[in-house]
Amino acid sequence: MHGGCNCGEIRYLVTRAPLTAYICHCHLCQKRTGSAFSMSIVIPADGLEVTAGNPIRKERPIPGGGSNVSLLCPSCYSRISTLREGRPTINVRAGTLDDTSWIKPVAQLWTSSAQPWALVDGILSYEEQPSDFSALLAAWKGAASRK
Ligand SMILES: [Zn+2]
Ligand SMILES: [Zn+2]
Repeated sequence: MHGGCNCGEIRYLVTRAPLTAYICHCHLCQKRTGSAFSMSIVIPADGLEVTAGNPIRKERPIPGGGSNVSLLCPSCYSRISTLREGRPTINVRAGTLDDTSWIKPVAQLWTSSAQPWALVDGILSYEEQPSDFSALLAAWKGAASRK
């Protein structure tokens, strides 16, 4: 799967199958996207290959230790991905993929700060950040096997 930033300077390739997809209603995602929520796919950390451009590595400390490293386009500042240090997976901002038609999120996070009209019926829902993603991975697998 190919993707890239808004201006086209950064291009990337996803080389591993996604493990899950979700949307996040947290305030940070609302600020960052200027929208009601963000949408991510989760892939193994070695599954993202930048094929054009030199993304900015933006580090943000996480309360409680560690940090998130995001890749951004140096020209249009589109955010491509976020990796939490030490995790075996990486989150790709789903909207930066060239083809987003196949993505159906299986979960929504931070419903406590969601715009009421943006809540999705019939998917896993968490008021805040889930403590682990095993249910999200299982739901994604289940959805794939029903296709
Ligand atoms: Zn760009
Ligand atoms: Zn969020």
